[in-house]
Amino acid sequence: PRRRFGPGRARCDNPRMDAPIADVDGRWTLSGVANLHSHAFQRAMAGLAERMTHPSDSFWTWRETMYRMAARFDPDRLHAVAAQLYAEMLEAGYTAVCEFHYLHHAPDGRPYADPAAMSRALIAAARETGIRLTLLPVLYMTGGFDGRPLNDRQRRFGHDVDAWLRLFETLRAEQDDAGHDGMLRVGCALHSLRAVPPDAMRAVLAALPRETRVHLHIAEQIGEVQDCLALRGDRPVRWLLNQAEVDARWTLVHATHLEMDEIVGIADRGATVAICPTTEANLGDGLFPLRDFLDAGGAWGIGSDSHVSVSPVEELRWLEYGQRLVTRHRNIVATEACPSVGERLLAGVRASAAQATGFAATTLAGDRVVLDPAAPQLAGATADDVADRWVFAGNRPAVATVSVGGRAVVREGRHVDRDAIAARYATAMARLLADG
Ligand code: ZN
Repeated sequence: PRRRFGPGRARCDNPRMDAPIADVDGRWTLSGVANLHSHAFQRAMAGLAERMTHPSDSFWTWRETMYRMAARFDPDRLHAVAAQLYAEMLEAGYTAVCEFHYLHHAPDGRPYADPAAMSRALIAAARETGIRLTLLPVLYMTGGFDGRPLNDRQRRFGHDVDAWLRLFETLRAEQDDAGHDGMLRVGCALHSLRAVPPDAMRAVLAALPRETRVHLHIAEQIGEVQDCLALRGDRPVRWLLNQAEVDARWTLVHATHLEMDEIVGIADRGATVAICPTTEANLGDGLFPLRDFLDAGGAWGIGSDSHVSVSPVEELRWLEYGQRLVTRHRNIVATEACPSVGERLLAGVRASAAQATGFAATTLAGDRVVLDPAAPQLAGATADDVADRWVFAGNRPAVATVSVGGRAVVREGRHVDRDAIAARYATAMARLLADG
């Protein structure tokens, strides 16, 4: 028999009391899904990295394509692309996004006149579209574990610790501005262990206000694990758990390549893992050890990362399907106490949302997604099967209306400003592609 449990157990022991999708006034309704990992600018290159550039294409050759696209962005273009992305997220049922933002400076690496100009473009896009934003300015200092300097294409991502802390303080002041109506949180992102030397990591962590959320990419690629072993003497997650006070404020992005002590270590510390199934598949990262992590009681959520897909349904479905393909079993995340895979998946993302985003759980619970009562995939749905039907039975999000912070942002499946946002996006894309 499979072992089970963790944070989801109490809820799932009594699933009808607090089902992730409930009948509210005759409509199937859920709390909005938090998207725990996004690089907004990458929406512009979705579908443009699917041609062979090298006989052994990998994450590392994809990254070169991504750098070429990143080099063409300025604040206006970022604003247009992020607004399109965030409107798509809302239409799909995401109501909060953690933006892991490293595109800070001008292409030559010099800060803009306002060093927070790119951050402000993201804040403006979130505000216009009505999505909750956890902005995570990224500290990115070195091009590898050996401490090599950033290359020309990475230069616009870089800060030293003092400059990054100034940016963080500037953005924290924005968070506290009443004009944002509590829709903005500012946290910290460390790009990865390879991009942040140990001393810098310690200096930044020591300077952060206690409640600050900390996100970082970790153990996404085997090459990164091998480099960390060679130059820091340990695997990335094991090294981090030994060197930092990782706890519930932390979100580890990907954490794909783990050994059992690392799986248990993350779970015991209460950190969240942000799994990005469609991007991890697209980049050939590998498969997160979900079943072992759930058995250890780990907290997890989903991110759309590179935005080859902008759909919580597709992320959740592929999270489960990847496990089925590799284990040749079905209903991998289900338990005897919570036999519905869809419910267990939705309960998992709901349980981690406040911890990873920094927004209060009660606040997030008020952001509502109402499913389309006319969607054929939901015909005759019951409380027992509606979550499975939403996640497994359709290729459209089947979202009818979305409200965030009391503001209706999606009606009849369309973002309220969809046409204007899409027109501006088309103009920005034409310019981005012309620069190629
Ligand atoms: Zn990422």
